Amino acid sequence: MRIVISEFMDRAAVDALAARFTVHYDADLVDRPDALAERVADADALIVRNRTQVRGALLERAARLRVVGRLGVGLDNIDVEACTARGLVVIPATGANAQAVAEYVIATAMLLLRGAYGATSDVAAGTWPRPALSNGRELAGKTLGLIGFGGIGRLTGGLARALGMTVVAHDPQVPGDSRVWRDEAAVPRGLDALVAEADVVSLHVPLIDGTRHLIDSARLARMKPDAILVNTSRGGVVDEHALAAALRAGRLGGAALDVFEHEPLPARSPLADCPNLLLSPHIAGVTRESNERVSSLIAARVAAALEGH
Ligand code: NAD
Repeated sequence: MRIVISEFMDRAAVDALAARFTVHYDADLVDRPDALAERVADADALIVRNRTQVRGALLERAARLRVVGRLGVGLDNIDVEACTARGLVVIPATGANAQAVAEYVIATAMLLLRGAYGATSDVAAGTWPRPALSNGRELAGKTLGLIGFGGIGRLTGGLARALGMTVVAHDPQVPGDSRVWRDEAAVPRGLDALVAEADVVSLHVPLIDGTRHLIDSARLARMKPDAILVNTSRGGVVDEHALAAALRAGRLGGAALDVFEHEPLPARSPLADCPNLLLSPHIAGVTRESNERVSSLIAARVAAALEGH
């Protein structure tokens, strides 16, 4: 049986698969659509991250395909409906990169609240900007507002509470009387109330019709003027033009974005040169440890699906 891996995967997991199957591993295959289409034509399984678009022509070409492994959790690059209709199993690495994302949220929130860690060159040059940097804020005592209270939202809430934050969350799938709220020591809130109350708003929803531009100019205007927005979910959840305008006008304390409407983020985007903005290239969930966890989990599950157990 043949497995095609079209984006990067931990070497040990690739080797484990190669010991049992015929494996074609090419971390750059995603960038060569013709070669990818050719490779999947006789593949029984395809393993991707978030860049390979598993839909349309690629699926049609993949006549033998039975399993799609996803080295991550968001499934917006996979036409799950078309896969299911064909009896194709889609396997996400649920939970395996949650710790990496949760730590990213806490770290960027702390960086932006404190606002003091970008002074290395000034201090080294002897300018000693102490008065300007003596007004930073602490995380403890602040309120974290989580939009989306699934796996990553709950883990992030746990880290935040351990650091002394109050946690409020909004998730239509978690009813107000669910024991989740007590177990997680979090308080349910309506979306607009949460946005107005939180010192740090962090997004943990899938990108679906109901979440596109969930954070738009109206919701940004409801946020506290010194609040922080962190988006590790999916780019389309935040209106980037509206966010850039709010940051430039000083109507928001800061933002950290790991995901974008178009990835890679095009040069000269409205976000370029905005104040108090941290940008990263969709790596919140990718650490050495999470790559090992995600890769070994997907290798084991894809192997089990192919071997029928
Ligand atoms: P999850 O499925 O466990 O949780 C998502 C939650 O969002 C669910 O509880 C769902 O009920 C809730 N939700 C759906 N629509 C909502 C709405 N309109 N308002 C509020 N809540 C809503 O998923 P997860 O594992 O926690 O992942 C969350 C997001 O993080 C996904 O979009 C995923 O793609 C993204 N992610 C990004 C990275 C990265 O590297 N940046 C890594 C992992 C996951």
